[in-house]
Amino acid sequence: MAEKICVAVRVRPSISEESPSGTFWKIEDNRISLHKLHGTPISGLSYAFDHVFDESCSNSKVYELLTKDVIHAAVDGFNGTAFAYGQTSSGKTFTMNGSLNDPGIIHRAVNDVFQKIQMISDREFLIRVSYMEIYNEEINDLFAVENQKLPIHESLERGIFVAGLREEIVNNAEQVIKLLESGEVNRHFGETNMNARSSRSHTIFRMVIESKGIDTGSGDYSSSDAIRVSVLNLVDLAGSERIAKTGAGGVRLKEGKYINKSLMVLGNVINKLSNGAKQRAHIPYRDSKLTRILQTALGGNAKTSIICTVAPEEVHIEETKGTLQFASRAKRITNCAQVNEILTDAALLKRQQLEIEDLRRKLQGSRSEVLEQEILKLRNDMLKYELEREKLEMELEEERRSHKEREQRIRDQQLKIENLSSLVSDGDRSSSQDSMKESPKDECNDFKTPCFKETSNNAFVAKRSNYSELPDFSPLPDSFSNVADEDTWFKMNKGYIADLDSLQTTPARKVQSFPPQDITPDCSNDNYKLELQNLKTQLELVIKEKDELQRKLEEEVQINRRLMGEISELKQELDLSNNSLESSAQRYGNLEREFQKLKDERDSLLQTVSESSKNITFLTDQKENILKDLNCEVQRRKDLEAEIKQFSVAFASRQRSLASIHGEFKSKIEKLRAENLVRY
Ligand code: ADP
Ligand code: MG
Repeated sequence: MAEKICVAVRVRPSISEESPSGTFWKIEDNRISLHKLHGTPISGLSYAFDHVFDESCSNSKVYELLTKDVIHAAVDGFNGTAFAYGQTSSGKTFTMNGSLNDPGIIHRAVNDVFQKIQMISDREFLIRVSYMEIYNEEINDLFAVENQKLPIHESLERGIFVAGLREEIVNNAEQVIKLLESGEVNRHFGETNMNARSSRSHTIFRMVIESKGIDTGSGDYSSSDAIRVSVLNLVDLAGSERIAKTGAGGVRLKEGKYINKSLMVLGNVINKLSNGAKQRAHIPYRDSKLTRILQTALGGNAKTSIICTVAPEEVHIEETKGTLQFASRAKRITNCAQVNEILTDAALLKRQQLEIEDLRRKLQGSRSEVLEQEILKLRNDMLKYELEREKLEMELEEERRSHKEREQRIRDQQLKIENLSSLVSDGDRSSSQDSMKESPKDECNDFKTPCFKETSNNAFVAKRSNYSELPDFSPLPDSFSNVADEDTWFKMNKGYIADLDSLQTTPARKVQSFPPQDITPDCSNDNYKLELQNLKTQLELVIKEKDELQRKLEEEVQINRRLMGEISELKQELDLSNNSLESSAQRYGNLEREFQKLKDERDSLLQTVSESSKNITFLTDQKENILKDLNCEVQRRKDLEAEIKQFSVAFASRQRSLASIHGEFKSKIEKLRAENLVRY
C-alpha cells in the first residue's frame, strides 16, 4: 500500500550562551516557524511535519513516536529505514547513538527487535548485522578494517548489496551493542580528528531480519515455509552544511566535494520523488553510493522515517531553513512497502506437493466420485426421460387410434339412427295418412289443397320410406308426399300432431276424400299392420339404443376431453424434461471439461515437481562437494599450520644454535684480538 514517508524535525538544546537578538524558532505542536523576537511569525517560514520535537524531547520519545513502527514492521517482513539528516552538530549522532543515560535510536531498535522476536513463538529468526561507512564516496566496513572500498552489486536474490561486507550473525542485543562499539573503535583508527571525519561520512547500520514459520505440521505452507527477509537501515548522515562553510583546502576540500556529491544526489533524488509520479521517470539513485544503498528506502518497497535535526542558534538559521526545506520535500514522497516473502526451493517443493495433493484429493477422492455419481445420475435421468417420452408417445398414439375408432363408431351409429329415423318417419307418415283416411271429421270436411311453402332441406319432418311407395294408396301430389314441413302438417291436420301412441290405437279407416275404391285387399292391410307393429317395436329398441349411445357418446366426449387435458399436461412435462435433459447434458459437458483441465494442471504440476526435485538433488550434490572441498581445505590448513609450527621450532633452534655459534665466534675473535694485543 502506498504510504508517505514519516518526517520529523528535532531541535537540539542551544549550546551558545548568547540569547537571540532578532529571531527565534518557535515550536507549536507539529509546526516549527521562525518568529521575530517580540512579535509575529515571519511569513513563508513556517513548516509542519509529522512531529516536531523540541529541545526537551528525549531519544526515548523520538523512538516511540517516529521509529518504533518502522522497527516493528521490519520484524514482520517489511524493509525499513530511519535516517538522521542535518547540519554538523545539530544532533544527528546524538539521536542515532544517544548517550549513556538516553540511548539512541539504534540501541533502542536493536533491543526492540530482540524483544519482539522473543514474543513471536511461531516463527524462527536469523539476524545478521553489518556496519559501514561511506567516506569520500568509498564504502568501508566498520566491522573489519581490512574491508575497504567495497563495491555495490545487485542481484536478483539479494537486490542491491555491498559485496564483501562482513555480516555478523547475532543472537541478542548485547552482542550487537558490543559489535557497534568495536565498529566505533575501528572508525577512530588512525584518525587524528574524529569530528572532522564523522561530519563528512555517512554511517549505515544494517540489520537483515530473516524469519521462517516453525513447522507445526499443519501443512499450511503460507505460514511455515516461505521465508521473510527484511532489511533495516539506520543511517547517520554526514553534515548537510554547505561546503563554503567548511572553508578548508587540501584534503578537506576533496572530502567536502564528495560529501557534497552524496548529499546533493540525496537531495536530487528526494526532489524528483517529491515531484510526484509524472516526473519519476528517472531517479538518479546510481549517482551516489548513499542513494544506491538507500534506493528501496526512497520511494520503494520500504517504510521510511526521517529525522531532521536542527540547531536553534541564530547563526544557523540559513542551514536550518535548508534542512526544513529538505524535510518538506521528503514529506511528499510516497513509498510502497510490502512484506518480502521468498520461497526457497524446499518451500516451493512443499507448496507444490500440497497443491498436487489437493488436486489429487479432488480428482481421486470426493471430487471424482461426485463427478462420476453426477454423470451416472444424469445418464439415468436421461434414460428415464427417454422411456417416459416413448411411453407417452405410445399412449398418445393409442389414444388417437381409440379416438378415431370411437368417432367411427359414433358416425356409424348416427347413420344407423338416421336410417332408422327415416324408416320410422315413413312409418309415421303412413299411419297419419291412415288416420286422415279414418278420421270422421275429414270425411265430411273439404279437403283443401295445402298451400305449400317452399320447404328448406333442413326442415325435415318426415321422409318417405320404401314402404310408402305402394301404388294403391295415398295418391297425394308428389311434392306433398316427398317433403312436408310442420306448418304444412299443421295446416293439413288442423292442429293435429301425429302421436305415435295414438297412431297405434287409431282404428283403420277408409279414405273417403277420394272416390271409394271398391276393392281394398284386406290381406295386404293386415300385413302392413303387422309390419308396422314390428317397426314400432324396432323403433323403440332403436330409440333406446340411440339413447344409450347418446349417453355413451357424452361419456366418451368427456373422457376424451379429460384425456386431451392429460395429454397436453404430459406434453408440457415432456417439454420440461427435455429442457432439463438438455441442461444436464450441458452440465455434464462442463464437468467433463473441468475434469480434463484439472488433469492437465496436475500433469504440469507433477512435471514442475520432478524438475524441482532434480534441481534439489543437483544442489545437494554440489553442496556436498563443496563441503568435501572445504574439509580438504581445512585439513590442508591444519597441516600447513603444523608445518609452520615445526618450521618455527626448527627455526628457533637454528637461531639458537646460530646465536651460540655467533657467541663462540665472538669470544674466539676477542680472544684472538687479546692474544694479538699481547703479542704486539
Ligand atoms: P551531529 O551528529 O549532527 O554532528 P551531535 O549529535 O554530535 O551532532 O551533537 C552535537 C552536540 O550536541 C553533542 O555534544 C550532543 O551531545 C549535543 N546534543 C545534540 N542534540 C542534543 C539533544 N537533543 N539533547 C542534548 N544534547 C544534544
Ligand atoms: Mg555526528
